[in-house]
Amino acid sequence: MMNPNPNSAAPTTVSAISSTPSRYENQKRRDWNTFCQYLRNHKPPLSFPRCNGTHVLEFLCYLDQFGKTKVHHQTCQFFGHPKPPALCPCPLRQAWGSLDALIGRLRAAYEAHGGKPEENPFGARAVRIYLREVRDFQAKSRGVSYTKKRKRTSKQTEGNNGTTTS
Ligand SMILES: [Zn+2]
Repeated sequence: MMNPNPNSAAPTTVSAISSTPSRYENQKRRDWNTFCQYLRNHKPPLSFPRCNGTHVLEFLCYLDQFGKTKVHHQTCQFFGHPKPPALCPCPLRQAWGSLDALIGRLRAAYEAHGGKPEENPFGARAVRIYLREVRDFQAKSRGVSYTKKRKRTSKQTEGNNGTTTS
């Protein structure tokens, strides 16, 4: 136990990106800037080496106000409806998929900025548990499944897209 070896079990994080790394990097930089801005506006202000999983959870809750995904309360009549036939006062939240991808990018950015992997707050257990709960609740609330239906991973759903070619 007298030989601290930080290189053992080094996680391979940023290896799954093959197609457009620059776009991913841009998004990662934007996310990181957003997070740092959040830390600066935090009361009291925080610097990223001192933030922990709790601050990450605060950050995710803070982001919810900008969400665009309807998440029904359990008491809502449309709870579990994928396509509610009418409006309801339930809040808009960040979709689980967005949060999950965001955490992945911030986790990589944290280490790219010199943060220690073993102290990475984006990999904290509380954050993983939170994401899992968000996923499960949103799946129930919105009547969709994030775990099954893994036959195709392509996101290109036909017919429902506006023309985004430029
Ligand atoms: Zn609702």
